[in-house]
Formats: sequence, structure tokens, C-alpha cells
Amino acid sequence: ATSVVLFTRDLRLHDHPPLRAALDRSDAVVPLFVRDRAVDAAGFAAPNRLALLADCLRDLDSGLRDRGGRLVVRSGDLVEEVCAVAGVAEADEVHLAADVSAHAHRREELLRSALSARGCRLHVHDAVTTVLAPGSVTPASSDHFAVFTPYFRRWSERAVREPLAAPRRVRVPDGVGSEPLPARGDLTGLSPGLPTGGERDARKRLTAWLRGGIAGYADHHDDLAGDATSRLSPDLHLGALSPVELVHRARRAGGPGAEAFVRQLAWRDFHHQVLAARPHASAADYRTRHDRWRTGAAAEADAAAWRDGRTGYPVVDAAMRQLRHEGWMHNRGRLLVASFLTKTLYVDWRVGARHFLELLVDGDVANNQLNWQWVAGTGTDTRPHRVLNPTTQARRFDPGGAYVRRWVPELAGLAGRSVHEPWRLARAARAAYDAYPDPIVDLSEGLDRFRRARGRD
Ligand code: FAD
Repeated sequence: ATSVVLFTRDLRLHDHPPLRAALDRSDAVVPLFVRDRAVDAAGFAAPNRLALLADCLRDLDSGLRDRGGRLVVRSGDLVEEVCAVAGVAEADEVHLAADVSAHAHRREELLRSALSARGCRLHVHDAVTTVLAPGSVTPASSDHFAVFTPYFRRWSERAVREPLAAPRRVRVPDGVGSEPLPARGDLTGLSPGLPTGGERDARKRLTAWLRGGIAGYADHHDDLAGDATSRLSPDLHLGALSPVELVHRARRAGGPGAEAFVRQLAWRDFHHQVLAARPHASAADYRTRHDRWRTGAAAEADAAAWRDGRTGYPVVDAAMRQLRHEGWMHNRGRLLVASFLTKTLYVDWRVGARHFLELLVDGDVANNQLNWQWVAGTGTDTRPHRVLNPTTQARRFDPGGAYVRRWVPELAGLAGRSVHEPWRLARAARAAYDAYPDPIVDLSEGLDRFRRARGRD
């Protein structure tokens, strides 16, 4: 018997339940990736993530070749391509990881019916892209948790399945044609400081993280300049690393750092279970607050200044420039720039979420759209009216100012925390830094506007 394993955002050989199931049941397996036309049409194929995808596919192919196999790559209509490959390979089973977006649900349904019409069965595997299957941890009164803390309590009590070893051999039948693998070099418009992708590099990053950074994670994860988080989000995004394996290995490392890190992985699961239950939350408010977001020329100019890292608030601008340069932003930066856009400037969270998805190498629907809404107060935050003051945040999370000096070179000559408030400089001193803009908004005016709009004077 022959099986097809359809890879999506699970581009790895270690801990891959669909591949393991296919190998257990079949003599030959076709490892397939389809560049789905529908994903491109939805505008989701941003250059930074395409570069990561190219790296991951090349690495997956090379890992398969080391085991006697190869990766088959196709592009076009996903259902047609899977059926065509299953037909040529005379496969009677297709294995796929479960996923949460509306697109993924539709894809699964269409595939199931198209394959069954050909006498081929679709097997969908849980806990491949998340630690626990969405919907497997629910409160008594609802189909999902809307608040993280009780979710996390239940999540932590659940057993996490054991990770699987990578296969030793993969036999791919002859005669199944592949398109050439995509290459990062063919892409334009990439962020210059983009990380490399692929399982091999990801596993090295993971090992280094478990030996080093994780121990200090609980104390230092919010330190903007210290950059003391794992930076494993791109590897998790396309599944070069398994979240299940991460939980096991972090727990084995032990200590408060590992505990705090596992908690963040639970946040990832949390947003995935929200999106699985409420797919419309990718585009519409999860929880309506009757916002009448600012529109028009002034709001557009504010959003443009925010995107360009020229708001006049150095820590906001530093984070926005990091995003453009690296295709990645520190979590504390994401929180404060999102609060600044949606609350201080009172611009629709979708404007910010779209910009993030254009650049983030780890950008995904569940984490991005739901974190944006968490900050905007239209999602699952239990304190939806809280506004982060960028200057207070800067003093707290970049006390020495090194993060701002790294990303805002116009201000690099300002020592210590004075870099956070260039508007406080005496006029003559300020003139030396006139390449850097004045604040585009007065913080207390922004706060009043937001409170009035939300009906909380
Ligand atoms: P670490 O601190 O090392 O955390 C480990 C892992 O836990 C991360 O890799 C990530 O997979 C997960 N994680 C951590 N925090 C969160 C969180 N709040 N929500 C969900 N998962 C989390 N994360 C994405 O992966 N993709 C996104 O598109 C994305 N968009 C965001 C947008 C906004 C407005 C905000 C506030 C947060 C967003 N996040 C997103 C969550 C978080 O900022 C990143 O996961 C984190 O910064 C990645 O860096 P790291 O791998 O070093 O994280």
C-alpha cells in the first residue's frame, strides 16, 4: 500500500504523527507539499514567510533524501494536486495534520470528499501543530475557553503525548513528478536581518536555548535590549519544531525559566483553540466594543508614521524598525506598539494586524489576529480598557535605552534613559537630533480620546 503525507505547517521529520502513521501502514509514502493557490490569493504569502518556507522545504527535502526519500512539491489548487498525486501513486490513504483556521477547515472538508470519491481515505492527526488538540480542553459551559488563566490551569493538568523519533528510512514510489524546490534567492523585498529556516537549524537553536537562555527566561523575557526570549516562533510557525517536543524538553530542563516558557507555549495553544471555535475572529471582533475607529487623512497619516517607525515615541519606533529589519519583533515591543496604534492613536486593530502579517516571519492567523485583539480590547483580554504608556514601558523594559539606540540611530548620541524622551531636551540640544520627529500625538489627549470612544470618561 502507498500513502500520501500532505505537509502544511508541520515541515519536519521529528515528532511527525502523520508521517509515522503513514510509514506504519504503508510500504511507500509520498511526502507532498502543495503551494496552495488559495493561500496566495488571500494575500498571505508575504516575502519574509516565503523565504522561511523555501528554507524549510529545502531542509525537509534534504532530510528525506538522507533517509532514501525526497519531497514532492506542487503548486496550484491544493485539492486537485493532492488527488492527482494520490492517483499517480495509487495511494489509498492521505495523512494530514489538523489545523484551526477557517481555510484549514474548508481544505479538510474538500479534501475528504474529493478523496473519498476516489476510494482514498483522509486521516487527520491532532496535536501536530499544537500541544493539545483545540477543543480537547473546554469549560463546562462553552466550546472553548475565553480567558487564559483557567485555560492554562486545565491545560497544565493534561498529559502531553510522547514525541516521536524521526524515521530512519522513507521509501518514495517512482514516477511522482515534483516541481523544483523554491529558493530564498528568487525572492525580493526580504527583511535584511531575516533568520534562516529549516528543521536542522531550528534543532540547533532549540538545543542552544535549552542549554543557555531558558534558565533566565522568567526574569529576563521582557528585557527589550537583552533579547532574552527563545526566538523559536518562526520555527514553530512552519512546524520545523514540534510544540509537543518543546514542552517535553523544556519540562526536562526544569526550573522557573522552563515553567515560564511552557506557559507561553500554552498561550499559543490558547489562541489556536479560540480560532478553532470562532473562525470569524480572524477578521472580525471576537468581542464587540462598538468601536468607531478613526478613519480619514489624519488617521491614515498616523498609521503611516506608525508603520515607518516615525511616531516620535522612540521605543515604539525602535520596535517598528526592528520588525521591518528582522521580520520579527520582541513580544514586549508587539504589546506596546499594538496598544499605541489601537488605543493611543485609536486606529483599527486590523490595520496593524495587516502590517504585521506583511512582515512577520512568524506571522500566523491565530497568534497574530488574536493577540492584536487581546491588546485592542476586542478579544480575550480581561482588562480591555488598559492602555500602555510607551514612555513608562520604555523606562521599565529598556531602562538603559540600549534597545532604542540600537534601532533608532538618529538618537544614538543620547545617553541612558534620556533617549526615551527627546522632547524633554532643551531647544538647542534637541536641534542636534532634528532628524528624529516630534511626537505625533499627546499621550494624555490620546488617552482621553480612547476613553471617550469606549464610553469610559
Ligand atoms: P518566547 O518568549 O521565547 O516564547 C516561546 C513561544 O511561545 C513563542 O515562540 C510562541 O510560539 C509562543 N508565544 C509566546 N507568547 C505568545 C503569545 N502572546 N501568543 C501566542 N504565542 C505566544 N506570535 C506568533 O507566533 N505569530 C504572530 O503572528 C504573533 N503576532 C503577535 C501580535 C501581537 C500584537 C502580539 C502582542 C503578539 C504576537 N505574537 C505572535 C506573540 C509573541 O509576541 C511571539 O510569539 C513572540 O514574541 C515570539 O518570540 P519568541 O519565539 O522569542 O517567544
